[in-house]
Formats: sequence, structure tokens, C-alpha cells
Amino acid sequence: MGATIIDGRAIAARLRARVAERVSALPYKPGLAVVLVGEDPASAIYVRNKDRAATQTGISAQTIRLGPNTPEADLLREVARLNADPAVDAILVQLPLPGQIRARTILEAIDPAKDVDGFHPLNVGRLADGLPTVAPCTPRGVMKLLGACGIDPAGKRALVVGRSAIVGKPTGALLLAADATVTIAHSHTRDLPAECQRAEILIAAVGRAGLIRGDWLSPGVAVIDVGINRLPDGRLAGDVDFDGAAKVAGWITPVPGGVGPMTIACLLENTVDLAEQRRGRSRSL
Ligand code: NAD
Repeated sequence: MGATIIDGRAIAARLRARVAERVSALPYKPGLAVVLVGEDPASAIYVRNKDRAATQTGISAQTIRLGPNTPEADLLREVARLNADPAVDAILVQLPLPGQIRARTILEAIDPAKDVDGFHPLNVGRLADGLPTVAPCTPRGVMKLLGACGIDPAGKRALVVGRSAIVGKPTGALLLAADATVTIAHSHTRDLPAECQRAEILIAAVGRAGLIRGDWLSPGVAVIDVGINRLPDGRLAGDVDFDGAAKVAGWITPVPGGVGPMTIACLLENTVDLAEQRRGRSRSL
């Protein structure tokens, strides 16, 4: 028996279409501002894709490009300008930032009401408390993939491998809010195979190709692979050994074509949520 392959591209396309419908019903264009500092090629591609997807959805997107030697004070001034701009509903500062800029200082300077990535400590705290908030885009995408497959985390043993502030921890918080029994594994976890064996839902967010093997998994587990790793031959691979895992799992996401497309679709949805909330046509986040 083989796993059902979760088609992240198709699920993301449906979500983008729903967001576009919401945008077209609004009397204004939600505004998204993306700030790119420096010339990291991967970041430049992400930012271009975000800009294009936002524009196609009817969102008014602007990308602000700053040089690699931009002082922290200049970036703070740019963030303050965007905070004060009434046409901007959502602000995203693309990470990583060059070494002279403290990412934490910048993230804390973004108006929490415009914090489309959900990285401001206020929004991190609200998420940890189980309060309504804008959830970081990739974890939100993970939850939507589970939902699209009809997988209800309530009562299930969910394992998140990786504890980063961007993916692992917020994914754990969302699973907990959805009533899963959550374990978070990380680089100090003593027996990762045993933790994987117990999981009914497994989220991999490490950044090591093929770390999680098929023979570590229980039959029927839902596997969401967030990892994006470049193999020596140039191909992309996830953190899970896809071929081995697909023989055992109930559901599995491919890399590419799984979580990646959901991240951008959720960025668009977060932008519209923030716009509606800020401009007074609030819906529950
Ligand atoms: P990170 O480096 O910040 O965190 C990695 C985590 O993995 C750490 O918490 C670490 O403790 C844990 N880890 C390392 N080795 C481990 C091991 N042997 N066993 C268990 N845990 C271990 O990375 P990140 O930003 O969370 O990203 C993780 C992966 O997800 C990367 O491949 C990244 O490219 C990918 N990613 C994908 C998307 C997307 O849209 N699909 C978005 C963000 C990140």
C-alpha cells in the first residue's frame, strides 16, 4: 500500500483563488510591502515569487530593495515609514539579513498589526497562548495541508522535528491549539527513530536531506516535509526519505510541490486578514 501524495501546488492554487475572491470583494486593495536587504540569490527569488503571486491575487505589492551595506538605522527608518503608511497593511522583511543588522531588532520594530510573518514577540506570545493571531506562513500552510487531507490533529500524537522560531515552534503551537499531543524533537533529542515511530502526524523541519527514514515510521502516519535541501546533483529534496516513507505513510508531501507553495498562499491570506482587521472589516484570524 502506498501513501497518498499531497499535492501542495493544487491545494495552494485553490487557496490563492479563495484569497483573490476575498480581495475582489473589498472596496480597497490590500497592501503588502516586502523589504529585501542585500543580494542573497535565494532571497531574491523568494521575494520575486511573493511579489508576483500577490499582484496576481489583486494585492497591491511593493518590493523595497536596499543595498547589502545598509546600516540598521536606515532599515529601521524604512520600517517606521511603512508602519506609518496607511496604504500598507502587511510588512515582510525578508530573512536572513546581512550581519550588521540585528534581525530581532528589526522584527520588533514592525507594527504588530502589520506583522504578516507573525514574528513580532507580541504575535509569538499570542500564538503560544492559543489566542487568535496572524500565524507564521509556513506553519499555517502545514496546518492547511492537514486540513485539506481531512486529517484532524485532535487527540493525535504529533511530532515536530526542528524547533526553529520560524517553523518548528510555531507549528508545534498550532498543533497544540488544534488539540494534538505534541512532541518537539531537535538536535539534542536522544532517540529520534523512537519518537518518529510513535507519531501519527510527523512534521519535518530540519534542513537535512533524507534524515528521517521510512523504516522509522508507523503505518498510516501523515508526513509533512518542510525541509528544502539542495542535493549535490542540483535536485531538491526534503528531510524525509521520500521513497522509503511513501511505502509506509498514509499521506506524504513531496519536495518540491508540498509545503513550499502553501507558504506563499498563506502570506497572501495573512495579508488580507491583516487588511480586513486593520481597516475594520474584521474576521477571526
Ligand atoms: P533551522 O536551521 O533554523 O532549524 C533547524 C532545526 O532542526 C533546529 O531546531 C535543530 O535543533 C533541528 N535539528 C538539527 N539537526 C537535527 C537532528 N539531527 N535531529 C533532530 N533535529 C535536528 O531551520 P528552519 O528555518 O526551521 O528550516 C528547516 C528546513 O525547512 C530547512 O530545510 C528550510 O530550508 C526549510 N524551510 C522551508 C520553508 C517552506 O516554505 N517550505 C520555509 C521555511 C523553511
